[in-house]
Amino acid sequence: MLVQALLVLVALAGSGLAARYFFKAQFIHQVSSQLKDSLLNLSHKLPDPIGSDWCTNSAIGAEFRLTVLGADGKVVCDSRGLEIDATLPSRPEIVSARAHGFGEAVRHSNYFRDEEFLGALLIPGRGVVIRGAVPLSRLSQTMRVVDTSLGLVLIIIALTLVACAIYSARRLVFPLGRLLLKTQGGGDAFSENAVAGDLTREWFDEWSELESNIDHMRRDLMAKTQSLSMEQVELDTIMGAISDAILAVDPEGNPLFYNSRFELLFGGEGLRKRNIKLWAIFRDPEILSAFRAALKDGQRAATKAIPLEQKEGLKSFFSLSVSPLRKSEGTIYGAVGIFHDVTELKSAEQMRIDFVANVSHELRTPLTSIKGYVDTLIDDVNHQKPIMPEFLQIIARNTERLLNLMNDLLDLSSIESADILQKDPLSTLDLTERIVKQMQVGFESKGQTVEWEIKATTVVADTQRIEQVLSNLLINANKYTPSGSRITVIWESQGRDVLLKVKDTGPGIPVEHHSRLFERFYRVDKARAREQGGTGLGLAIVKHIMQRHEGSIWVESKPGEGAVFICRFPAPTTS
Ligand code: ADP
Repeated sequence: MLVQALLVLVALAGSGLAARYFFKAQFIHQVSSQLKDSLLNLSHKLPDPIGSDWCTNSAIGAEFRLTVLGADGKVVCDSRGLEIDATLPSRPEIVSARAHGFGEAVRHSNYFRDEEFLGALLIPGRGVVIRGAVPLSRLSQTMRVVDTSLGLVLIIIALTLVACAIYSARRLVFPLGRLLLKTQGGGDAFSENAVAGDLTREWFDEWSELESNIDHMRRDLMAKTQSLSMEQVELDTIMGAISDAILAVDPEGNPLFYNSRFELLFGGEGLRKRNIKLWAIFRDPEILSAFRAALKDGQRAATKAIPLEQKEGLKSFFSLSVSPLRKSEGTIYGAVGIFHDVTELKSAEQMRIDFVANVSHELRTPLTSIKGYVDTLIDDVNHQKPIMPEFLQIIARNTERLLNLMNDLLDLSSIESADILQKDPLSTLDLTERIVKQMQVGFESKGQTVEWEIKATTVVADTQRIEQVLSNLLINANKYTPSGSRITVIWESQGRDVLLKVKDTGPGIPVEHHSRLFERFYRVDKARAREQGGTGLGLAIVKHIMQRHEGSIWVESKPGEGAVFICRFPAPTTS
């Protein structure tokens, strides 16, 4: 707009100046031809010789100056009788007249204090030059009027143009600038206060409507951006909270996204930055073919439990399900795999299998023995042979073993399934005395001494279960330590916890068995343990009871130095 206005202004000024120049040239031309005519007339009247007062007499009007120069270049006469200037013969009008017959010039006159027009005419044959000079004061006056009017017109036009430019800027450029600012993406431009105020309807018509539309769109966009970022945060939180590991890859196997669980289990930090592909993370063919099926054929694929090595070399079992990721038009742009940790399920299943095998084995041995002796007894009766009383004793022992086994199994299952334990503060002294008294016969038969040290007087526990813990540990001490050995029950505090220690002076247990000692049916010396009538479930029962009390049990022992079984009962929570 401003450039346009300037161009118009320059064009106007140019044409004004051209008109001015043309007018001046025309005026001078007119003066020139009039002066030439006058000089021609005078030339006819020129006497010979020319008197020095001829000029004064022949001058037309007071403002007209007439000068005559002789053929020798000297001034013959001057109507104004001024002192003769020596440079006169070299003036341009004189030089031009001598060369072309007529010469003219426009110069400033000190006399008029204005411009004057000078015309010089050569009288052919005589070599005389007549020069006339007229003031151009009328031209100057006219020019001043023209200049003033032109200036005024230009100023008015300039002001009008500036006003128009401002008006247009306000109507067009200003609202456009504001709208541009409003539609700029990102940063503060999206904040409500980025562009304050609104374009008014009376000033900006449809611009104001456009602005309100843009405002509407902007608010819409802001709301959508906000809800999108909220959704992103929610998604991140959900992904972080999911216990399954999730990995999405593009068709080239580059990770698109993965959750923190995946990073923790398989990735290490910055999987994406390190540009590691799927084939470098997993080498298992089942996993790779599941991803391939989803990426190439768009099929959902699942695997059974696959053993996978994690970051720290730990092995866990994962089931994997892979689904293709599709764009709205249906093209596949990646696949997402969910790794579900089934290690616990797998080990529970293994435990169940082992347990059934162990129970069957434990049942079969006494049952086979019972069957064998019963068959022998039947045979003896049939052949009227005397019945061997030892056979009946063996049958009775095996039956008792079976009964013990069934009782221990039932105990285990009731400990595992019982809902709540009835925990009470119990006197450790009473408890110890009671249990030792019940087992007194057993200890006495082997000549064993039982002592106790009560450094913690109370323990919070389920009466029936804690009795079972102490009696199982004492039964083992009684069974596995030789005659004459010493057994000590110690109750002591450790911080707010209570420790129960059952110590014996028996053969001890080699360290390699310590970690497995509390497993069901685990025995250090199988033959001896069976001989002792053990079911292999005593310590497993103790471990489960301790777990139900949120406590723990461990053994400290070296072969030949006896064994100490330590149970930790945690301090009851106050809430
Ligand atoms: P069991 O019914 O066979 O005694 P437990 O679970 O009670 O089963 O004990 C598991 C095994 O731990 C026993 O077979 C025995 O080998 C070993 N054991 C337990 N207590 C002692 C102990 N005080 N001294 C030596 N060995 C022990």
